[in-house]
Amino acid sequence: RFIALEGGEGTGKSTQARLLADALRNRGLEVELTREPGGTPGAEAIRKLLLDPPEGGWNPRAEALLFAAARSDHVEKRIRPALAAGHWVVCDRFVDSSRAYQGGAGGLGDAAVSALHDFGSEGLRPDLTVLIVASQETVVARLAARDEGVSDAIGGRSADYHAQVADSFLSLAEADPAGFAVIDGNGTPEEVQVRVMAAVAELLEA
Ligand code: C5P
Repeated sequence: RFIALEGGEGTGKSTQARLLADALRNRGLEVELTREPGGTPGAEAIRKLLLDPPEGGWNPRAEALLFAAARSDHVEKRIRPALAAGHWVVCDRFVDSSRAYQGGAGGLGDAAVSALHDFGSEGLRPDLTVLIVASQETVVARLAARDEGVSDAIGGRSADYHAQVADSFLSLAEADPAGFAVIDGNGTPEEVQVRVMAAVAELLEA
């Protein structure tokens, strides 16, 4: 089984990915906890290029290609082998981040991003994408509590960009209700985790 956790910065998806992996392991399941961009040495090298870009940054198409290249390596070397071995995969971000960031907010469109994913990763989809949605107040408070403060790792994007990311995630979820679970990310990590576990219950029983 393959579960992706999605959401904007500060929604708590990395914390929830960890808590979900722990909960699945406590049930005796083999779990691969991983993240994007990254998850393999090659993809982590690309992550560095994305988060610490060379002078001038990347144009939106190059950025989308780098995310797709990182994902291709990650899928081939880590995710597909884990799934083939019968393990569960919990991934902090996957293709729906590219669809929301590069496709939606970045303006490249869903068709282009999906085409890159079809080529790079043969269109692999999670069994379930858990989209965590938190209020602006929650997000600002969580980002402020981080060491780096309120910052955007990629190129100082505007509040408007992040609002578009949030809207795009919701549109993707609305268009595919069977593929997504939209979770309220406000509250304590434990409160949110109860909601995440309820969302994956069906997969656990299948
Ligand atoms: O998940 P995490 O916060 O580690 O993501 C790292 C950075 O990459 C964030 O700034 C996020 O906005 C950005 N990102 C992106 N497009 C993606 C995935 C992540 O711009 N497809």
